[in-house]
Amino acid sequence: ASVMAQDNLSVVLHAQGDLRLENRPIPEPGPNDVLLQMHSVGICGSDVHYWQHGRIGDYVLKNPMVLGHEAAGRVLKVGSGVTHLKAGDRVAIEPGVPREMDEFFKNGRYNLSPTIFFCATPPDDGNLCRYYTHNANFCYKLPDNVTFEEGALIEPLSVGIHACRRAGVTLGSTVLICGAGPIGLVSLLAAKAMGASQVIITDLSAERLMMAKELGADFQLTVKREDGALQLAQKVEDTLGARPQITIECTGVESCVQTAIYATQSGGVVVLVGLGAVMCTVPLINAAVREVDIRGVFRYCNTVTKMTRTLEPTPHCRSRDRQHDDRHELDSDLRKITEQVQRNRLWETSCLFSHVAGYVGNFHNFFYCIKMKTK
Ligand SMILES: [Zn+2]
Repeated sequence: ASVMAQDNLSVVLHAQGDLRLENRPIPEPGPNDVLLQMHSVGICGSDVHYWQHGRIGDYVLKNPMVLGHEAAGRVLKVGSGVTHLKAGDRVAIEPGVPREMDEFFKNGRYNLSPTIFFCATPPDDGNLCRYYTHNANFCYKLPDNVTFEEGALIEPLSVGIHACRRAGVTLGSTVLICGAGPIGLVSLLAAKAMGASQVIITDLSAERLMMAKELGADFQLTVKREDGALQLAQKVEDTLGARPQITIECTGVESCVQTAIYATQSGGVVVLVGLGAVMCTVPLINAAVREVDIRGVFRYCNTVTKMTRTLEPTPHCRSRDRQHDDRHELDSDLRKITEQVQRNRLWETSCLFSHVAGYVGNFHNFFYCIKMKTK
């Protein structure tokens, strides 16, 4: 605790367009909490959206709120009831902590609990600050070979894992992903890691599709705004040789949701990850008569333990050395921070994703080794 800075510099959103750097008191951990020194915090599209619009759908900013929910840090202090973590532990933070043992909690779907705490969703504070307390059960010890940056990216990766679970991605699945932004990319990584045999991904941007290719997409399709939904669905089928069994829609754009339904094989599944307008016109009857299931996705649950285990080195994986261990000091210059928040986070996070992709690649090799052994 002697290394603690005196102030707790925090990035606080006061109102739409009003972002401030403030010193807040260093919080004391409750009995079931840990006090963390934050190390790496990703800037999410939702952070930028709250800053620019002051709301996301029904979540409206009414009081000042600390931004940030993609995070990893080091434990400084543990509450009296915490036994599985100690000072010095490096952890990834799961930002959603259920407040009640309600039916959703009991069913293992705590992401659906209406009273859940979630970092940087009004009115709950996030962790784009120097010191932060969090429920210890939602802090996960990072394996030594996983950097803080990678630890922070477990959160967005969780979205991909949950989307693929909801979609039922399994060995040999064929998958269409609409949109190659960060969430499209994590869905791609998750789908490949979960055994998808062929993934085709679409985007307006050729640059984004290049990144998708690097991360393991089997086919990329550059789309134009004027492309019709039926026409695009046909292109997907032509490229893949058949309709995909599963479509993961990551854009929220109406025409893309239409494409998703048309493109999916009869009896298949469409999951909606991207959030767009409240009302959306879709070819519902087409989906109905072909028994295409349309499923929603809200954040994730029960993903982080599995992710940290997946990232652990195995005898079959090449070992990685930790290099990015320098603490990212929160800049005391608000201008620099707003620049950072403003910049499209795609490029940076994509670079970091490729680190995580290294592990998912290892995960693949791992399966390959098992296959070789059983021959
Ligand atoms: Zn996020």
